[in-house]
Amino acid sequence: MNPDFKRSIILDHYQNPRNKGITNDKDYTKVNMNNESCIDELNIEIKIKDRKIEDIKYDGEACAISTSSASIMSETLKGKTIEEAENILENFSNMLEEKPYDKEILEEAIVYDDIHNQPNRKKCALLSWWGVEKVLNEIKTKS
Ligand code: ZN
Repeated sequence: MNPDFKRSIILDHYQNPRNKGITNDKDYTKVNMNNESCIDELNIEIKIKDRKIEDIKYDGEACAISTSSASIMSETLKGKTIEEAENILENFSNMLEEKPYDKEILEEAIVYDDIHNQPNRKKCALLSWWGVEKVLNEIKTKS
């Protein structure tokens, strides 16, 4: 993907974040994620039904990378089963750690494939994805 196209996708998600806004609905599991090395503080809500991610919402104060990444994450993981989501999370994290990963399943999230060149932005891109991981782990320990 060429760098201009990547930048335009990131900018679009930053300016028009998808699935933004917290519901405070009790059917959602909520987590708060902080990134001390940036301004980022995100609340993330996930609704899981029949082992499937039915909805993802988020809100808070966040930089361009963190906001766009949360938006792309919500679109990528919504509608996926827990197993599919875990696989995508692992591949996203591998991409940022410069390990082998599966491009096909990451959908739009591959726009961050060169963010490892800016180590201080890596956590911005990962923050919301870690939030989902946290929720999935919580659900696992409960069931
Ligand atoms: Zn940030």
